[in-house]
Amino acid sequence: MIEVPLVDLNSQYRRYKKEIDAAVAEVLESGNFILGSRAHEFEVAFAEFCNAKQCVGVGNGTDALILALQALGIGADDEVITTPWTFMATVEAICCVGARPVFADINPINYCIEPRQIPALVTEKTKAVIPVHIYGYLVDMDAIMRVAGEHKLKVIEDAAQAHGAERLVRRESGQSWRAGSCGDVATFSFYPSKNLGAYGDAGAITTNNEQLAHRLRELRNHGTLKKNLHHGMGWNSRLDALQAAVLLVKLRHLTEWNAKRLRLAEWYNRELTAIAKSVGVEIVCPSPVNAPSHVFHLYTIRVPKRDELVDYLQQQGIGCAIYYPVALHQQPALKKLGVASSPLPYAERAAKEVVSLPLCPELSEANQNRIVELIQAFFKR
Ligand SMILES: *Cc1c(COP(=O)(O)O)cnc(C)c1O
Repeated sequence: MIEVPLVDLNSQYRRYKKEIDAAVAEVLESGNFILGSRAHEFEVAFAEFCNAKQCVGVGNGTDALILALQALGIGADDEVITTPWTFMATVEAICCVGARPVFADINPINYCIEPRQIPALVTEKTKAVIPVHIYGYLVDMDAIMRVAGEHKLKVIEDAAQAHGAERLVRRESGQSWRAGSCGDVATFSFYPSKNLGAYGDAGAITTNNEQLAHRLRELRNHGTLKKNLHHGMGWNSRLDALQAAVLLVKLRHLTEWNAKRLRLAEWYNRELTAIAKSVGVEIVCPSPVNAPSHVFHLYTIRVPKRDELVDYLQQQGIGCAIYYPVALHQQPALKKLGVASSPLPYAERAAKEVVSLPLCPELSEANQNRIVELIQAFFKR
């Protein structure tokens, strides 16, 4: 039985029950369930949170990616460069619009796409790059934007794991990169376990491009902004009012939650580094970072004997998990589509060695202690 879950949504709900229940009841009373004023209010608040001009609420993070690609005019015969180290949805979206994913290997320290790998993969067909802020770590967007600029590629940030991640740009003091405001467009998921999670499926797209936002608003709602006047074909992928109401409540707490995640991650780093030294094993912790460039959606380490450690921890009731056991370029679904890839050694090594430990703002000190003690006991055996 799992006693310490990877993410503890129950505790979170109990703590904010009053605020959340009131917001939900208000929507139920209003009788407006699709988009409406709650969704609009959330879009305004989330755009501001991301430092972006526009936010378009959609049904989920996968739709957000599909609509973003479509709005940028990416489709059949186009190529999109992305990372093999992400959730399947990133690549599904590329395939869904008829384009072909091309994989660049990752940086072994932060697990994000390595910008230096990109130029060699660009062909006449390459239209865009999708960097993913994996585990909550903001990709080196300076480098991505430079490469994209040189090759005239659109940039779609997959920010599904990185709500609130931000890094100062030193050369222009004061200016910062914030997830959701760096590329041409950015996509977010509010899947319940994400740093900002709904109570069901929900997603959003942010952009500084007003025209693109307009097109996205049409696309998400059957190609229409005005009932029964359709300017094109679209989809049904709208943010629902109940989810928007929940997200508005949670957004108020997100900065505090992200700060707590960072503190817990720093504690893990300190304890695990000490354990590694004392028992003489190599545990690779996330590199120390300045807040808030990492919002620690997941706290992921690399260890020897990974599979045995996962079994051991799970037997002891610790809900650790592997993100991801198979890199995307090696997934059967992509092989079936004939997406060939050269070996990507860093992604392949990560698939064998990573494990994510429980981390969420509700993780107690006692449980975090227990986790590191168990890891020490495992390596001492
Ligand atoms: C969760 C996630 C998605 C998909 O979001 P859904 O809301 O589940 O559709 C896409 N990309 C990444 C990196 C994710 O973590």
